[in-house]
Amino acid sequence: MGQGAYSTVFEGLMDLDGVQERVVLKRVKQGVEGAEEMVEMEALMNINASKGTARGAVAAFLGYCWVEPRDAAGELTPGLWLVWRYEGSNTLASYLNRRDGLDALAADLGVAPSDVIQTATGQILSALAELHAAGLVHRDLKPANIILAEAERRLKLIDLGGCADLRSGTNYVPGECIYDPLYCPPELYVLPTAGPHIAKSLLAQATSSMLWARHKPDRYDCWSAGITLLCLAVPTLRNDAALLRFQQELEAADYELDAWRASSRFVKPTDFAALDADGGAGWELARDLLRPRDIVVAADGAVDFVASSEVRRISAADALK
Ligand code: ADP
Ligand code: MG
Repeated sequence: MGQGAYSTVFEGLMDLDGVQERVVLKRVKQGVEGAEEMVEMEALMNINASKGTARGAVAAFLGYCWVEPRDAAGELTPGLWLVWRYEGSNTLASYLNRRDGLDALAADLGVAPSDVIQTATGQILSALAELHAAGLVHRDLKPANIILAEAERRLKLIDLGGCADLRSGTNYVPGECIYDPLYCPPELYVLPTAGPHIAKSLLAQATSSMLWARHKPDRYDCWSAGITLLCLAVPTLRNDAALLRFQQELEAADYELDAWRASSRFVKPTDFAALDADGGAGWELARDLLRPRDIVVAADGAVDFVASSEVRRISAADALK
């Protein structure tokens, strides 16, 4: 089904208590440095996300297994395999790549075409809010990692390989960033780069609570949700070249979305019709999600967040309201 840097994704059938279930399998690529650790982390993140309240926010994880060389049979080659329920055949990216994509998405979500952007955005924010409430930050939110679960008519998050559990510190190394340059926020990091290593801290829970309260790492994903909202609502922005240009122009406009819109050299006023409807409610939401964070970059490149109780970029839960 797909291929990333560290893994290959397959579709398959699995016998679960006598019932043939359509499943998705991900296998570590052999001979790629760090690949095994990445996929092991992805398994852990799926376990963490599925055991609590974030369960419905992510694709249903069925488990993982090691295939030993001597047990390898047919196409199930040796190595670590992760298995999910097959949720559906479309990601948000595949809808957005089609000319009739929003109509198709509306039909699959069971809503009127005029409601589709609002419904989809609400579902994405609600999945994010659930993930964040569980202490997890996705770090790779984008249309390609949002799948339509056909049976539930709900958008769910997939691809937790870059997800950080900031309660336990699992899959989090200070100063390490895992990002897609088109969707990640300008500050690049979830937390200050010289901050404590939560997993190695003796008081991991207290450290984690302090870091969440002070720096609000969940806001990383909120930026990505803002970009995703723009992709949904502004057809001109629905390709990588346009997103790159948007990013350059936004930076030149000091990250003021209104100033960008007024100065952009490639969008037209009518491109924003969906966001301007209802007194500009969608535009206001995009503006609140796409606010920069105040950071200080030291001479050695360390990135610190300005500790302030006021982080202007809103949380997924507040955006949902
Ligand atoms: P990668 O690391 O290669 O980006 P992903 O986890 O994003 O891996 O999965 C790659 C592709 O496989 C997705 O874009 C999607 O099309 C498909 N896919 C992944 N998980 C599921 C699932 N649970 N149900 C259906 N399709 C899935
Ligand atoms: Mg992916």
